[in-house]
Amino acid sequence: MTELAEAPSAADRGGEKRIGHWIGGQVVAGESGRSGPVFEPATGRRQGTVDFASVEEVDRAVRVAREAFRDWRTWSLSRRAELFFRIRALIDAHRDDYARILVSEHGKVFSDAKGEVARGLEVVDYACGIPTLLKGGFSEQASTGIDVYSIRQPLGVVAGITPFNFPAMVPMWMWAPALACGNCFLLKPSEKDPSASLLTAELLKEAGLPDGVFNVIQGDKVAVDAILEHRGISAISFVGSTPIAHYVYDSGTRHGKRVKALGGAKNHMVVLPDADIDMAADAAVSAGYGSAGERCMAVSVVVAVGGIADPLVEAIKERLPKVVVGDGMDPASEMGPLITREHRDKVAGYIESGAAQGATVVADGRKTAPEGDGFFLGVSLLDHVTTEMDAYRDEIFGPVLSVVRVDTYDEAMQLIHDNPYGNGAAIFTRDGGAARQFEFDVEAGMVGINVPIPVPVAYYSFGGWKASLFGDSHAYGPESVHFYTRGKVVTSRWPDPATSTVDLGFPQTR
Ligand code: NAD
Repeated sequence: MTELAEAPSAADRGGEKRIGHWIGGQVVAGESGRSGPVFEPATGRRQGTVDFASVEEVDRAVRVAREAFRDWRTWSLSRRAELFFRIRALIDAHRDDYARILVSEHGKVFSDAKGEVARGLEVVDYACGIPTLLKGGFSEQASTGIDVYSIRQPLGVVAGITPFNFPAMVPMWMWAPALACGNCFLLKPSEKDPSASLLTAELLKEAGLPDGVFNVIQGDKVAVDAILEHRGISAISFVGSTPIAHYVYDSGTRHGKRVKALGGAKNHMVVLPDADIDMAADAAVSAGYGSAGERCMAVSVVVAVGGIADPLVEAIKERLPKVVVGDGMDPASEMGPLITREHRDKVAGYIESGAAQGATVVADGRKTAPEGDGFFLGVSLLDHVTTEMDAYRDEIFGPVLSVVRVDTYDEAMQLIHDNPYGNGAAIFTRDGGAARQFEFDVEAGMVGINVPIPVPVAYYSFGGWKASLFGDSHAYGPESVHFYTRGKVVTSRWPDPATSTVDLGFPQTR
C-alpha cells in the first residue's frame, strides 16, 4: 500500500514505476509484452509504464471473478453494508493518498483532487444503504391465498471502462453500486492515469472484500474489445468520449450485454440580461477553467443574452490574470497542466483556429503558460464565437472558454437544442419564471439554475441526453441499483394439498 500511497510528486524524479493488473486479490504483472507510458503532466517526465492486457489476461480475470461470485452473492445485506462502512472509512482515511496519485498522474491541483475523492465517496456513502435500496415489493393476498413479491438480484460479473479525467471518482460511480448489489467487478481504467485503481483495489481488500470480487485490468482497445465480447460479462458501464461511448454501446449490446455509455459534452451557460454580472463571471471562470477544463461538466460556452455581453466579457477578462496555473502540489496553484502534450497542443489549436475563423482572442493561454516541459496551457477566452467555428463545434476539453452572443432567450435555447450534446446546461438569472421556463425547455440531462456545474448529489442519478449518453440508464443513484440488478417476481401459495385439483384454464386472479 505505502508504495502507491506515496506516489511521487513533481519534485520527486525517482525511478520509473511499473503498473500491473489486479486479479484475485493481488497485483499481477502483465504478460502480453504490450505496455504504455505514464507521464507526470506537471513536468512532462515519463514516470512509469502500465501493462496492457491481452485477451487471455482479461479472460483470466473474468474467470476469477465468476468463481468469486458464487460465494459473494450469498453474502447477506447486513454483511455487505457493514463491509461498505469499512470501505467508506478507509477511503476517507486515504483521501490525501488518492489526491497525491491524481496530482502526479492526472495533473489536477491537490484541492481539486481531494474534491474528486469527496464526490466519489458520496457514492460509497449511498452504497452503504444497500439493504434499503434493494427492498422489493410485497403484495399479500394478491389473489386468494396467494402472495406476490419482487426481488432484485445481481447480474454476475460486470465491467467498468473509465476515462482519464476522474481516475478515482468515476470508477467509484460504478464499482460502489455494482459491488453493493452483489456483483463482481472488472475495472479497466484509463491507461493515462492508472494507479488510483490499484489503491482502490488495496483498500477494498483491506476492508475485507473477498479476493476476486474486484479486479483491475489495465490496457487499451485490446482489453476493451475483450471485455465487450466476453460471454462471462453481463453488463458494462462506460464513461469517456462520444465516439468510443457509441462504439462500446453498439458492440456491447450486440454481444448481448446491458450497457450504459456516457459520452462527451459541450455545456452551455446562458446568462440573461438581468443576471448578477460578478456572480456569473465568477461561475464562468470556476466552471470553465477548474481542472483545466477537463471535466465533462465544465462550462465550455457562455451564451451572453442581449446587453450583458460587453460587461460580462469584461468581468471574466478581469479575473483571468488572477488564476494561478502551476504544479498541482503547489498550494498556490488553482489550475494544473493538461493530461498529455498531444492534448495540450490540440487544445491550443482551438485558439489558433478561433482567431483564423473570426473570433476575438481576449486571453491567449499559449502566452501565459508556465515555462518548462509540463503540459501547461494558460486560461484562454474567445469572444464573438459563432456556431460554425471549430471552437464551438468540438468538445475542446481544455481551458478555452468561448462566448457566443445572442439577442434573445429563444436564440440561446435554439443553440442548445441544435447542439448534438446534452450533458449539462446552466442559466444565470434573477428571474424565477425565466429559470423555470429554462428547466422545462432545455434538452440536457443535468440543469443548473445559478449553479454552473450541476453534478447531481449521489442519491440522484448522473447522466446526459443526446450524444452524451448511449443506453437508457444514468450513472450512480437509484438508476445504478436498477442497472446492476435484475428483477424477479415470485408468486407463492401454501394451500392445503387436499384442495389441489387439475385445472387447464389460464390462471385467474380472484
Ligand atoms: P476516451 O473515450 O478516449 O477513453 C475512455 C476509455 O475508453 C479509456 O479507458 C480508454 O482506454 C478507452 N478507449 C479509448 N479509445 C478506445 C478505442 N478506440 N476502443 C476501445 N476503447 C478505447 O476518453 P478520455 O479521453 O479518457 O476522457 C475524456 C472524455 O470523457 C471526454 O469526452 C469527456 O467529456 C468524457 N467524460 C464524460 C463523462 C460523463 O459523465 N458524460 C465524465 C467524464 C468524462
